[in-house]
Amino acid sequence: MKYKFGGSETNQRTVLDHPSGLFVLFFTEMWERFSYYGMRAILVLFLISSILGEGGWGWERAEALELYAIYTGLVYITPILGGFLADKYFGYRNAIIAGAFLMTLGHASLAFEGFTEVFFYMGLGLIILGNGLFKPNISSIVGQLYKNQGKEKDAGYTIFYMGINSGAFLGILLCGYIGEKIGWHFGFGLAGIFMFFGMLQFYFAQNIFGKIGLSPKESQDLIQNNEDQKFEKELVEVLPKKIVRDRLIVISVFSFFVIFFWWAFEQAGGSMTIFAADYTDRLLVGGDALTFKIFNSLLTVIPMLIITWVLLMLFKQTFSKFALSNIFLGSSFVIVWIVVIWMLDREFRSESTEVPASWFGILNSFYIITFAPLISRIWQSKFNPTGPIKFAIALILMGLGFAILSYGSMGIPLGAQTASVSMIFLILAYLFHTLGELCISPVGLSYVSKLAPIKLVGLMFGIWFVANFIANYMAGITGSYIDPIVEEYGMTTFFMIFTIIPAVAGMIIWMLNNTLLKMMHGVR
Ligand code: GLN
Repeated sequence: MKYKFGGSETNQRTVLDHPSGLFVLFFTEMWERFSYYGMRAILVLFLISSILGEGGWGWERAEALELYAIYTGLVYITPILGGFLADKYFGYRNAIIAGAFLMTLGHASLAFEGFTEVFFYMGLGLIILGNGLFKPNISSIVGQLYKNQGKEKDAGYTIFYMGINSGAFLGILLCGYIGEKIGWHFGFGLAGIFMFFGMLQFYFAQNIFGKIGLSPKESQDLIQNNEDQKFEKELVEVLPKKIVRDRLIVISVFSFFVIFFWWAFEQAGGSMTIFAADYTDRLLVGGDALTFKIFNSLLTVIPMLIITWVLLMLFKQTFSKFALSNIFLGSSFVIVWIVVIWMLDREFRSESTEVPASWFGILNSFYIITFAPLISRIWQSKFNPTGPIKFAIALILMGLGFAILSYGSMGIPLGAQTASVSMIFLILAYLFHTLGELCISPVGLSYVSKLAPIKLVGLMFGIWFVANFIANYMAGITGSYIDPIVEEYGMTTFFMIFTIIPAVAGMIIWMLNNTLLKMMHGVR
C-alpha cells in the first residue's frame, strides 16, 4: 500500500490538491478560533461597560486591560504542557478532543457570568487549559498528513492558517456584533456553540487520519512504517545527538525572532486601536456611508462564499464515509449564514455615519483569507525563498507597515490628543502586516513540524507558542507608553520604534541564513 499522504484511504482524496483531512483540521481550527477570537473581542468591552444599563462589570479600563494581558498570555503558556502530554501519553487526537471539550465548558461557563463571578473566572481558566491541549496538537497533526517534507507542507500550513483566520474573522464579526448589540451572554454563548459543533465535527471525522495522532502506544507501528521517520531514525542513529540538537536550536532561533514580529503585530489591539479611535478620520459624509456599507457587506460575504465553497468540496470527498461529521459542520454553516444575513440587513438599515474603531481589526483576517491562496501558490512555484529569508521578509514588511503609519502621522502636532489622519494609512499598514504574517506564521509552523523529532513535535509547538506569551506581554507594556512618547517625541517617532526594531531583527536573521540552513541538515 503506497499512499501519497499519511492517514486513511479517504485522506488520499484531495481538495485543492491537498489531503481532505487537512480540511477537517481547517474547519475544526476555524470553529475553535471563532470562539477564541470572538470571545476575546468582547472581553474588555464587557468588563468596562457599566453594570446598570449595559450589563457589564463597570471595571476601569486599566484593570480590564490587565486581565486581558494576563489571559492572552496564559493562553499561550499552557501549550507547552499540552504538547508534552500529548507527545508522551494521550496522543494528539485525544488531546484535541479533550481541549475542545474544556473550551466548550469554558465558553458555556462565561455565558452564565450573570449568576456569579465564579462562572466567569472558571470560564477563563477552562479556556486557558483547553487551549493548551488543543492548539499545539492540532498544529502538529497538520504536518503529519504530509509524507513529503517539502513545499507541499508549507502550502498545507498556509491553507490551515486560512482556516484560523476564517474563524477569527467570523468570530470577531459575529460575537462582537451580537455581544455589543444584543447582550454579552449571547456573544459568549455563540462562541461556545461553535466550539461544541467543531468538536463533534472533529470527533466524527477523526478516522480519516488513520493512525496519525493516536497515543504513542497505539501508534508504535506507524512510527516504524513511515518511511520518512525511518529515514530520520537512521540519521539519528548515525549522528544521533548533533542533528537533533542543531534542529532544536533552529526552532529556538525561529521562536526568538518571531517574538519581534508578534511584539509589533500585537500593537493592533493596543496602540493601533487608539490611533484608529482618536487620530483617524472615520466620519463618512454623503454617499460615503452607503459606499462603506456596500464595501463592508462584500467584505463579509466574499469570505463566507469562499469558505462555503471549500466546505462543499470537502463534503464531496468525505460525505460517504463521514456523514455525521459533515452534518454537524453543515449545520453550523447554516446558522452562521443566517446570523450573517440578519446582521447585514440590520446594518444596512442603520443610520451610522462613522466607521467603528474596532472595524480595522477584521482587516487582518480578511487580508489573510484573500492573500493566503496567492502566497501558498508562490511558495509552491520556483520563487520559494528559504525559511530564514521568509522570516526576514516578514520582519521587514512589518517595519514597512509601521513606516507607513509613521509617515501618515507626520502632520500630527506634538502632544496632540486627537487628529484626523486619513484611514488609508491604517488600511495599508494592516495590509503590510498581514503579508508579513503570511511569510512568518504558517511558515514557522511548517518548520517546527519539519525540524522537530517525531516524539517531541507537540512540545516544540508548545515552545513556538510560548513566543506569543512573551510577545503579547511586551507588546502591552510598550504600547502603554504611547502617551508619554507621543507627548515628548510625537506619533511619528512612536511608530518608528516598530519600524526600526523589526527591520533590524529581519536583517540579522537574513545574515544568519547560511548558518541556519546548515543547522537544519537538509530540511527545506
Ligand atoms: N493568528 C494566529 C492564531 O491565532 C497566530 C497567533 C499567534 O501565533 N500569535 O493562531
